[in-house]
Amino acid sequence: MRFTLVGTGTTLPDATRGPAGFLVESDGARILVDGGTGTIGRLAALGVDARELDGGVYSHRHVDHCGDLVPLLFTMKVGIDKPRRRDYPIWAGSGFEDFFAALEGVYGSWIQPEGWKVRIAELVLDAADGADLPGGVRLDTLPAVHTAGALHLSFTSPSGYRVVFSGDTGPSEALAVLARGADVLVTECAVETTDRWNSHLCATDVAAIVDAARPKRVVLTHLYPMVDPTEALQVVRATGVPVERGHDGQVLEG
Ligand SMILES: [Zn+2]
Ligand SMILES: [Zn+2]
Repeated sequence: MRFTLVGTGTTLPDATRGPAGFLVESDGARILVDGGTGTIGRLAALGVDARELDGGVYSHRHVDHCGDLVPLLFTMKVGIDKPRRRDYPIWAGSGFEDFFAALEGVYGSWIQPEGWKVRIAELVLDAADGADLPGGVRLDTLPAVHTAGALHLSFTSPSGYRVVFSGDTGPSEALAVLARGADVLVTECAVETTDRWNSHLCATDVAAIVDAARPKRVVLTHLYPMVDPTEALQVVRATGVPVERGHDGQVLEG
């Protein structure tokens, strides 16, 4: 399984880091995880044609995580030299179907496929849930501490390689549970100090989760500009678990 960091930035403009987006590839299948504004172009730069994706998984419905959903469906519908003929499955937290119906209300036939369907499978927001994804990848989820139907996501390859993505979250025992023993924890580290809205993590929060979960490796993403990356890495490194700041195009493989 390859887990590519397509976007490691935030919703703020950044020439080198796009908003959240990741690509899971396994046994020929390609699954998009999140996808904020500009993800389609960033995928193209990585040699991946968004019209041919096998499915999508969304951690939550904030625009920096799903802003490219409408452009994605529009490009699949327009198709031109690669017309889509098969369904596009989406897995996301409860409430996503209503969200999608509202988008259809705005965009109508522009995003409604002809001859194939968008199939949405909702995951519960108050307990563990999961699904079998294309390519033999197992998705396991636990509720995150955030808004907009947020989930922590764990992806396990057929060979057992496991990458956990925090999604956006405040301090979360569930994330420590899901990340226990993972090969890689890809986690947000959005804020510089304890978040007064309890909806994002600072480096001290990340360190506490890493210390409890002891994943083999940690990759920090989603740092707002007020977070000093060097300081954040120092704080997390004190746990003894290897940590780095992720960059767009980085590949995790195992
Ligand atoms: Zn968010
Ligand atoms: Zn975010």
